[in-house]
Amino acid sequence: MNETIKRCTRCLLPGSYPGIKFNKKGVCNFCLEFKQRSLLGEELFLEKIKSKIRDKFDCLVGISGGKDSCYVAYLAKERFNLRVLAVCYDFPFLCELARKNVKNVCDTLKIDLIIKKSKRNVEYNLLQNHLMSTAATGTSWGQCLFCHYGIDAILYNVAKENKIPFILSGVTNSELWWNPGNRIVMLLKRIKKLGLIEKAKFIYYQLKAYFCLVNQRREFKLPSNSCFNAYKKPKKPLNGPEFVNVFDYIKWDHKIIEDTLVERTGWVKPDRSLSWRYDCILEPMLDYTYKREFGISSAGLYLSALIRSGQIERDEALEIIGQNEDEEYLRKAAQHVFNYLEIPLRSQNAFFNAQ
Ligand SMILES: [Zn+2]
Repeated sequence: MNETIKRCTRCLLPGSYPGIKFNKKGVCNFCLEFKQRSLLGEELFLEKIKSKIRDKFDCLVGISGGKDSCYVAYLAKERFNLRVLAVCYDFPFLCELARKNVKNVCDTLKIDLIIKKSKRNVEYNLLQNHLMSTAATGTSWGQCLFCHYGIDAILYNVAKENKIPFILSGVTNSELWWNPGNRIVMLLKRIKKLGLIEKAKFIYYQLKAYFCLVNQRREFKLPSNSCFNAYKKPKKPLNGPEFVNVFDYIKWDHKIIEDTLVERTGWVKPDRSLSWRYDCILEPMLDYTYKREFGISSAGLYLSALIRSGQIERDEALEIIGQNEDEEYLRKAAQHVFNYLEIPLRSQNAFFNAQ
């Protein structure tokens, strides 16, 4: 498959990607506009950490079991000799291997670990209602809202309680560049096309999902963010602990990261071609909807960014995407999520058959 897709000759973006243009050599505008970022360096990182008074811990690390967050924990503890506290937001979609990796890494590196879980499985109810609501639109836009908020709120509160001035994160540039358009606008367009009963269903289940989001915000409070403004991107409170992205300072190299973690921390590599975001079982829903909507999965977008920054060869990325974007594979992965959330077959079919 994918033989007939016109792709950028440098990355993997297809001609169907929103806002794409190709030059005469078939190179896309995203590749042409890409600029390699320069790093701030280790010295500045340490200078920053030392700039504030610390109590028992120098920094807090949010850890999910994924390779980037585990590597940040490793760097903080082993390379920089910092006193690290780790916190894991254990929601019901974290895969078992991720949970094991969190434990392995913290045990091996002797890092204190706090695990935070919601009281009444609010995330499961949320996603069940959210997917029931959006099924007929053929998308799942909004599925990640709870996680973005939950992580920020939990990190903020744990840092505050333990008087930790810095929260280290490991978000890479490769995850931040894409913005295929406003997804709320796209979703609203889809809803317009639905019949009356489907529209009513959307509102009914979305209202239930909304109250789950409100409940999550009530349980994990983040100052200066209203519980009821639950679709809004969380704002980081001023004067609180500072979020520091370690990969603004230190080089990110996926091969070095994986090898180091396996050799030094007991981290276990997932049994698949791409270890990115293996930790959340909801990710295939995104891959499926991105592929259908924009002609490329979120994994493909990520790989495209890796090619641009020289982290992976295009041929290798093409091979990985071939496995990851196989229609049957993506459909099964999405079905698995639906079944786990006990979404009735009728809604599942509405999702897969949506135009
Ligand atoms: Zn390109």
